[in-house]
Amino acid sequence: MNIIRVANAEEGGKKAFELIKEGLANGANVFGLATGSTPETLYKEMTASDLDFSNCVSVNLDEYVGLAGDNDQSYRYFMNQHLFNQKPFKATYVPNGKAEDLAAECAHYEEIIAANPIDIQILGIGENAHIGFNEPGTPFDAKTSVVELTESTINANKRNFEKVEDVPTTAISMGIGSIMQGKKIILLAFGTAKAEAIANTVNGPVTTDVPASILQNHPDVTIIVDEAAASQL
Ligand code: PGA
Repeated sequence: MNIIRVANAEEGGKKAFELIKEGLANGANVFGLATGSTPETLYKEMTASDLDFSNCVSVNLDEYVGLAGDNDQSYRYFMNQHLFNQKPFKATYVPNGKAEDLAAECAHYEEIIAANPIDIQILGIGENAHIGFNEPGTPFDAKTSVVELTESTINANKRNFEKVEDVPTTAISMGIGSIMQGKKIILLAFGTAKAEAIANTVNGPVTTDVPASILQNHPDVTIIVDEAAASQL
């Protein structure tokens, strides 16, 4: 794992942007994207840049079950607001949280991933070391599926909702097996709340108790951390 230490989230966004820019120049055109507060500085850099993504495809990690794309808490809405409205892509994929048949939607999403092999996968990390919404205990070979969110994740995400009861308890998430197929992975983590997860991911045993620890087995992972997130390394 290649660890890059930065002063803060702004600098981390700039670093990740440089890697995306370099990837794009070298022919990368499928980007696995993430939501949450962590990648916001990266998306700011992307939208402010003159890079052209109109021949690129994006495949997002996850979506809350029950939220439509026009719901301002949905991840589709987040992506439109933070990136796609300003920076058009050829196609943008986010799981459909309102699908009537969720199992069929998961299978369909796997077909999308297979048809669009991810060149660069952007990841955040949960306080419990989840990647996507793959919570501790998720098998490493899991495909896209409907997952139950843990209390820790619901509590971490409630800041975006009026009250904790409004946070959906299930989501569709790209599986760890699918994430691991990305050719290059860039994981971003900022803030003290992520310090333990980062230490366990980098230095701990590879165990499903720490979903991100599987990244130790991937040949091309870059972890961009600020001082606070790196404080237990
Ligand atoms: P955050 O979420 O960027 O909002 O901290 C990251 C995650 O849960 O993967």
